[in-house]
Amino acid sequence: MLNNPLEKYSGLPAFEAIRPEHVEPAVATVLADARERVAKLGNEEPTTVDWAVELERITDAVHRVWGPVVHLNAVLSSPELRAAYNECLPLITEFGTELAQNRELHAGFVALEKCVDPDSAIERQLITHALRDFRLAGVALDDDKRRRFADLAQELAQLQATFEQNLMDATDDFQHHAMDKPEVAGLPKDLLERARRAAEDNELDGWLLALDPPTYISVQTHAESEDLRRLYYEAWVTRASDQGPHADRWDNGSLIDQILELRHEASRLLGFNSYAEFSLATKMASMPSEVLKFLENLAVKSKPVAQRELDELTAFAGRELKPWDLAYFAERLKQDRFALADDELRPYFPLPRVLEGMFRVAETLFDVRLTERHDVATWHPDARFFDVDTSDAGVIGGVFVDLYARPNKRGGAWMDECIIRANLAGLEQQPVAYLVCNFNPPGESQPSLLTHNDVVTLFHEFGHSLHHLLTEIDFPSLSGINGVPWDAVELPSQFFENYAWLPEVLPWISGHVDTGKPLPSEKFETLNDSRTFLAGLAMVRQLELALFDFRLHDSYDPDEGTRVEDVLSAVRNEVAVMLPPAFNRFSCTFSHIFGGGYAAGYYSYKWAEVLAADAFSAFASNGSFDAETAASFRRSILAAGGSRDTMDAFTEFRGRAPSLEPLLRQSGIAPDSEVA
Ligand code: ZN
Repeated sequence: MLNNPLEKYSGLPAFEAIRPEHVEPAVATVLADARERVAKLGNEEPTTVDWAVELERITDAVHRVWGPVVHLNAVLSSPELRAAYNECLPLITEFGTELAQNRELHAGFVALEKCVDPDSAIERQLITHALRDFRLAGVALDDDKRRRFADLAQELAQLQATFEQNLMDATDDFQHHAMDKPEVAGLPKDLLERARRAAEDNELDGWLLALDPPTYISVQTHAESEDLRRLYYEAWVTRASDQGPHADRWDNGSLIDQILELRHEASRLLGFNSYAEFSLATKMASMPSEVLKFLENLAVKSKPVAQRELDELTAFAGRELKPWDLAYFAERLKQDRFALADDELRPYFPLPRVLEGMFRVAETLFDVRLTERHDVATWHPDARFFDVDTSDAGVIGGVFVDLYARPNKRGGAWMDECIIRANLAGLEQQPVAYLVCNFNPPGESQPSLLTHNDVVTLFHEFGHSLHHLLTEIDFPSLSGINGVPWDAVELPSQFFENYAWLPEVLPWISGHVDTGKPLPSEKFETLNDSRTFLAGLAMVRQLELALFDFRLHDSYDPDEGTRVEDVLSAVRNEVAVMLPPAFNRFSCTFSHIFGGGYAAGYYSYKWAEVLAADAFSAFASNGSFDAETAASFRRSILAAGGSRDTMDAFTEFRGRAPSLEPLLRQSGIAPDSEVA
């Protein structure tokens, strides 16, 4: 196809021109070209790192074509695009496996290891990672096993994509038509306005409510009608399962069984005892027992706190609580105790103000400025582009932001790489990030208004973006978040969340939508006091997910089958303080581990949270904006990307190994000695 906009290997993607019909030919072209270059490379005898640079260029070209497709499929899906995506995903996976199992390339790296500059830590890291990844891709297996391993990777990619799509379809398909005012009592005005417009569009009276995450959370938190909360709870926790309103229509249950079985088989082929061991081969944690001990230790410390919180909540409600009562009564108790409703703060956090203030935090800490550009093509009118520059280097990269929920957009919030930094012969480019959230869209006459929780989410994703943007590493495979162990990748994001909680940042990020006045300090103090409100319950919930994920993959035994519900109930009995009803099929919605890359790695959130809280405690002692501490954090953590060992980098910054205590304190869960 002439002038295929996806075949654009430099500059920003041509979002204005990309159509589903461009996907397949662009993928075919880039893969054919990549294969030719890989074959040529495999015949060369490497003498310098330039040999490996060619591989960096090849991989980057594939990312240039496939990256925008993955991104568009997540933020602006359509049946045509999804079909093109599904058609090409196996081709991309197949190429990835082929590359990772290429014996000539593997031999090349073995040879290169002997001739590379021993003083270049980065070049040595490049080779160490490459050799490790070849091993994990089964390069050393005999032909039969290697083919089997490749087939498994292929099947897994398909199964995981189907898992995600089932979940998206089940979520999008649900609607609830409410006719009577009492049924929607308590719901926020802007949600009701949207629901009323949706009803009108369908020529209905009343309100038409969807099941997107903001609506689900609003119903759970605010709906006075227990029936509506229960209805939504059931719809949410039975999505893509054999239960609930869409029972069996998009059931992910059998996919889970297949995914676990294939992951186990693939890990065994490589000589690991379990997928959990395989997962840890690329992480900071070294052994399954280390992860389990870490999580169990946190659980022991948190469960009594969570139980106490649940007792208080039950006493406050004056009756036994059901899972669909938790968020509702938590919000009531929070209001009662702190006289502070989540939604009450929304007018103080108009999105434009928050964005501006957040950029100021980045500028103050790291001397980076963000400037909007209006001449950059995006995929949707809601999406915007910002140049990122520093005073010494000028423009160093850019970021696309796309912040509002809409149909055909994947839920949640994330940062992804649009362009990965490179400074190599034949490949010079600055990093560009995608920052995506699902906040309430603006109303007809007012901007999007955020809860403080939304503000924290935005800071989180921006922290990832800074990691991607402030990298100083020249090799794409080690720059930004690349090559960083999964259990450390949440360090910069969770670290940056802390800045959404600082009193000195508040006047920067808040300004009442009508008066422009910042959040009054007494309201902020109350908000800050509320930070640890029900933190024990939140902690045990995260530990439940992390332990479920890790044990499921660690203890999988093909003779016994998957035992998903057994493992989950065992974990819940140990960690949770409230057990869900029998129809709960949470596992069918757990896309982090069955659709995405967090398998036997969900614990990473907590692991990195420990690192983040500990890193921030250095700022707490030296000053939140202390220039030297910020420069050191930027140098050791943000700039280094995956170019060095994370534990070394952390220890260099902190002056010692990581400690659990800052996180326990931050969560209001005191260390042992202080538990009365
Ligand atoms: Zn994150």
